[in-house]
Amino acid sequence: MNAGNRYTGLINRYRSHLPVTADTRIISLGEGNTPLIRLKNIPALIGKNVEIYVKYEGLNPTGSFKDRGMTMAVTKAVEEGSKAIICASTGNTSAAAAAYAARAGIKAFVLIPEGKIAMGKLAQAMMYGAITLQIRGNFDDGMELVKQVAAHAPVTIVNSVNPYRLQGQKTAAFEIVEELGRAPDYHCLPVGNAGNITAHWIGYCEYSTPVGETVTQSCSFCNGKCTFACEPVISNRPKMLGYQASGSAPFVRGGPVKNPETVATAIRIGNPQSYDQALKVMSESGGWFDELSDQEILDTQRLLAMSEGIFCEPASAASLGGAIRDIKSGKIAEGSVIVCTLTGNGLKDPDTAIGQCQSSVLKTIDATLDQVRDSILQSMGV
Ligand SMILES: *Cc1c(COP(=O)(O)O)cnc(C)c1O
Repeated sequence: MNAGNRYTGLINRYRSHLPVTADTRIISLGEGNTPLIRLKNIPALIGKNVEIYVKYEGLNPTGSFKDRGMTMAVTKAVEEGSKAIICASTGNTSAAAAAYAARAGIKAFVLIPEGKIAMGKLAQAMMYGAITLQIRGNFDDGMELVKQVAAHAPVTIVNSVNPYRLQGQKTAAFEIVEELGRAPDYHCLPVGNAGNITAHWIGYCEYSTPVGETVTQSCSFCNGKCTFACEPVISNRPKMLGYQASGSAPFVRGGPVKNPETVATAIRIGNPQSYDQALKVMSESGGWFDELSDQEILDTQRLLAMSEGIFCEPASAASLGGAIRDIKSGKIAEGSVIVCTLTGNGLKDPDTAIGQCQSSVLKTIDATLDQVRDSILQSMGV
């Protein structure tokens, strides 16, 4: 029954733009349709006349944008008869894979780097019932193993090398265009494997290309010809800006990084799987890559939480941190409309959050009226 306007996930919403048929059994948890929130206080703090919006992907069913790709990848895996999926993950892909596999009634195997994934993500993978394999290695090692084992076992890879992932993820660009009535001037994303920045570009291109015309960024489905029922919805496309953590910045270094390190574990990736595609996105969109230190990333995460009431995970803050720096320097001009994707929910990584603010905002006192009152008066400077 779907007589009203009940939202039933992004595949139903964007069916004409996705590789499904009327008979496809859709595996969905109601992902997508996330809020696009206009920042009020940060632009004033920066002192520049810009419109900054954040796309809060942390409000997806498992708390990150990975759900957009996973609904598509698992739907197609099930349609093709697969009984198990596998992925390497810095955490969020494993959470999403585990949840959608549970929903579909198939098995999920996830490879994660031991000790290097945020607590909430580990809890999710285990709770949703994935077979969780902690490897003594990093994401890049896990990714190589997944590719190798898929040739020896009946499992479908659901990392972003699976082209259906990017198809699902491109819908975030559709939502932004529909809400703004245009594409932004700049779209800022944190970059790990570079699948998401590629997917957004595919989405913007699809929405700006008439049926049958050549799409500049060809995806594996349209091969340069948009076969989906594309109406040219927009005439402009954004410059795509990709921000990385300094210790894990292959796009800034110009090639793979051997031992990536960063507090932003979701983007702790030295050998991005969508490297060439993302370079193409940059040259087509006129965008750029840049890097942020771990401290800049954490400072931005906290600034966003304290001045706007929005809690994202560290990796996500790289998009806004980079945007703020480029707005301040004038690289992003005044008058611009900017969208920053907040890829994951802050609740995923409570340890990093608490570690950052414990000393300044957490006080232990006796359970007495005096001490509670004194604490209030002291904090308010009365
Ligand atoms: C996966 C992920 C990223 C990186 O996305 P890529 O497509 O790998 O570039 C960034 N932030 C969060 C929270 C993620 O889970």
